[in-house]
Amino acid sequence: MTLYSNPGKGIVFWEHDVSSARIFDTTLRDGEQSPGTSFSHDDKIRIADKLDEMGVHVIEAGFPINSDEEFQAVEEIADRCSTDVCGLARVNEADLDAAMDAEVDLVHTFVSSSEIQIEKSLDSSREEVLELTRDAVEHVKDHGFDCMFSPMDATRTEFSYLADIVQEAADAGADIVNIPDTVGVIRPTAMHRLISALKDEVDVPYDVHTHDDFGLAAANALAGLEAGAVQCQVSVNGIGERAGNAALEEVVMSLESIYDVDTGIDTTEIYDLSKTVERLSGIPLPQNKPIVGSNAFSHESGIHAAGVIEDSSTFEPGIMTPEMVGHERRLVMGKHTGRHSVRETLEEAGYSPTDDDVAEITKRVKSMGGKGKRVSDNDVHAIAESVMSSVPASEKTVDMKEVNVSTGNDRTPMASVKVDVDGEEKVDAGVGVGPVDAAMTAVRSIMGEDYDVEITDFHIDAISGGSDAVANVYVGVESDGYEANANASSEDITVASVEALVDAVNHVVRKKARGDDGPKTKETTGP
Ligand code: MN
Repeated sequence: MTLYSNPGKGIVFWEHDVSSARIFDTTLRDGEQSPGTSFSHDDKIRIADKLDEMGVHVIEAGFPINSDEEFQAVEEIADRCSTDVCGLARVNEADLDAAMDAEVDLVHTFVSSSEIQIEKSLDSSREEVLELTRDAVEHVKDHGFDCMFSPMDATRTEFSYLADIVQEAADAGADIVNIPDTVGVIRPTAMHRLISALKDEVDVPYDVHTHDDFGLAAANALAGLEAGAVQCQVSVNGIGERAGNAALEEVVMSLESIYDVDTGIDTTEIYDLSKTVERLSGIPLPQNKPIVGSNAFSHESGIHAAGVIEDSSTFEPGIMTPEMVGHERRLVMGKHTGRHSVRETLEEAGYSPTDDDVAEITKRVKSMGGKGKRVSDNDVHAIAESVMSSVPASEKTVDMKEVNVSTGNDRTPMASVKVDVDGEEKVDAGVGVGPVDAAMTAVRSIMGEDYDVEITDFHIDAISGGSDAVANVYVGVESDGYEANANASSEDITVASVEALVDAVNHVVRKKARGDDGPKTKETTGP
C-alpha cells in the first residue's frame, strides 16, 4: 500500500492521493436550508460570483423546482459562472426537468435509502427506491446531462442495500455518487471504512456530504477523501441544516496546509467570502470559529503575544497564516496582556512610548481587562494619549488623590475632590448641573486659592461603544495668558475629567514657571 504524507508539516499519512480533490460548495442549497436563512436573488448571485472567482470546483446553486425565484437564480448562476453549476432534484421527472431547464452542468438527484426514511418519510419500499433511482439517473443521462446521485441518509443505511442502490445508480450511468451523512452521525474512521468498502463493491467516483452535529463534519469529509472519494461537499462558514455542513474554509485550508495540496482555490479571499456569507445569511460567526473567527489569529496572553511578535510560528500553526486566508493577526489587549503587545500595538500606531510609558499603559490595560472589559485598540490609544501627555509625577505641582460624586434624579449633583498642591493636601466640594460639572467646580475652587486658572475648552468623547466605554476628556486651560491642555481617559467620566483638568493645570503652571509661552498644543501627541 502506498501511503501519502506531508514531510516536515506534521506526522500525517493517508491512503489515497488527495491532490486533485474537488470542492463542491452547497452554501446556496444546504446552506440556505439553515433555519432562518433565506438569500435574495442578488445575494445568491453575489455569493456564486465570489465562489466562481475563487475557483471553487462545483457550485450547488439551489433546488430549481422549489419556486420560480429559485429557478431563475439557478438559471442565472449556471449561465454566468464558468465553474460547474449544480441543481438539486428529487427522483421525479418534474424536478429533474426543472434542473435541466435551468441548464445546470450537473443534476444532483437524491432519494432516501435508510429503512427509517423509506418507511416513514417516503412510505415506499426498497424495491421501489431502486427503480426510482434507475429511472431518475437514466432520465438525466438520456438528456445528455451529467448526473450525481445521492442515497439520502446513506450512513444509516444497511451496507448491502447501500451497495445495491449505488450499483443501480452506476449501472444507470451516474457520473458520481454522493454518500451523504445526512444526520451527521458518522465518525472519521467509519467514513474511511465506508468509502473504502463501497469502492471495493462499486467502481464509481465518490463524493461525501457531511454534517456537523457532533463537530466532525470537516474531519469526516477529509476521511472520505483519504479513502479515495474524489469530491467533498462544503458550505461557507459551515452553514446548513441543523449544526450545518463541513465548512469550506476548514476543509480547503486543511487540504492546503496540512496535506500540502494546491486545491486551485484562491484562499486569500476566504475571509472576505466568510464575511459576505455571515452578513447575507444573518448567522453570526462565533469568535473562536476556526480560520475565519475574529480570534482565529488573535493573541492576548503575554507569553503568546511576545512569541508571535518574534516569530508567528511560535504560537500559531505556522503552516497557515492569516495572510493565506485574507485575515489578520491581532494582539488583543486585556487582563493577560504583556508589555510586548502594548509596545507593538503603540509603535504600529505611530507612538514612541518610553519604557515607563509602556509599563504604566500596560498596568492600566490589565486593570481595565481585569474588570471584565473588552479593551479595543482605540481604548489603548486613548490610555496612551492620557499617560504620555501627563506631566511626570516628580514634576507635578498638583496631584489628584480622590474624587467622590453623588448624583441622582432628585438631588443636586455634588462632588468632593482631594488634591495635593505643592505637597499640601487640599479638599473642597462643589455642586454643578451634573457630576462632571460639580467635580470641575470643586477643582477650580481649590485652584482658585493659589492659581488663577480658567477652563477655556472642554469636551468628552466616548472612545468605544457600550456603556463601559472608555471616555476621553480634553481640557484646555488659561492662566495669566499662558495656555495649556491635556487629555485623560477612564471608564469613569468624572475621574477622567478631573485628571485632565489637573494635568492641564500642571502644564500651565510649568509654563508659567519657565516663563515661556511654549507650544500651544499638548506636549506629547499621537496620531
Ligand atoms: Mn445535508
